[in-house]
Amino acid sequence: MSAYGAPQVPAEAVLNTNENPYPPSPELQAQITQAISQIVGTLNRYPDRDAVILRSALASYINERSQTNFGSENIWAANGSNEIIQSLFLACGSGVALGFTPSYSMHALISNVAGTTWINGERNSNFTFNSEIAVEQVEKLKPTLTFITTPNNPTGDAVPLAEIETLARAVAMHGGLLIVDEAYAEFSPEESAVSLIQAFPHIVVIRTMSKAFAFAGARVGYLVADLHIVNAMMLVRLPYHLSAITQAAAKVALDFRTELLGNVSQLVAARQELVKALNDLGLTTVPSAANFILFTGFKATSPQLWAALLEKGVLIRDVGLSSYLRVTVGNEAENKVFLEALTELL
Ligand SMILES: *Cc1c(COP(=O)(O)O)cnc(C)c1O
Repeated sequence: MSAYGAPQVPAEAVLNTNENPYPPSPELQAQITQAISQIVGTLNRYPDRDAVILRSALASYINERSQTNFGSENIWAANGSNEIIQSLFLACGSGVALGFTPSYSMHALISNVAGTTWINGERNSNFTFNSEIAVEQVEKLKPTLTFITTPNNPTGDAVPLAEIETLARAVAMHGGLLIVDEAYAEFSPEESAVSLIQAFPHIVVIRTMSKAFAFAGARVGYLVADLHIVNAMMLVRLPYHLSAITQAAAKVALDFRTELLGNVSQLVAARQELVKALNDLGLTTVPSAANFILFTGFKATSPQLWAALLEKGVLIRDVGLSSYLRVTVGNEAENKVFLEALTELL
């Protein structure tokens, strides 16, 4: 096996891990600093191990966006959604896990590390999700955990809610969980699968503050689910896993959601411009509902073009798909540097 290893190398434009290019505003920085300074005198004490204030705030945020009625008992928060994924495997990972690849590589890696057999399911040849094939695979394999990523990483396509519901029905027939990884939900026009949880309590929706909330460095991810799932998370979590500093900072970032989601709209507009620019260069782009674009149509191999871009100060991602590369939508300056470098190299 090999460890997760997106290169962390200095570059003029860092567009390889789907981070949000906008740092916290001076107001947000000041409020986070103030919130931390208010608790710094109590760091001799363990944090609230149930993170109730943060989980309530996350429930309000989800309810506001999806017209749902969740409470803190339907939310579990952890150090990034990767910890959420790991906890799901710890709690429910006996048997087989299925995901439809290419998708987020950490699903398979965490599965294997946790000792759960991982199976790569299929998609259409244009990478879109095929619910018919997915249902067939679920019926055949009866996985304990079935993963669906929407918008999918690294391809960017969003799965329509009706297709998630179709898959949920198939999963319900044999009693597994359907894990919907919505790390990029805020960038997508598609409705969130949280609206299906009441009817399908075996659906678990995973979200993160790393992308839309521009909070990757703070490490905050969460799930939305039936309270029985949350109870299972409490069994497998390490006591006091989420630091008091993290909880306080995340609560402030949620209070700034209007400002932060404004930046998301800006990134969606920038994505559309970047798609057009790539198409104007004669490249083919995979339709994206996220903050990144998978593209193809260049003559060099993916590793060659990736290295040549890095030499020009632009770090993007070779996701291991032959003749494709993935670029994160950056700020105006970064997108310009990327397009200029690419134009010179094509
Ligand atoms: C970026 C990403 C995550 C986020 O991981 P964090 O641990 O929350 O930073 C989760 N799932 C997918 C599909 C991602 O692309």
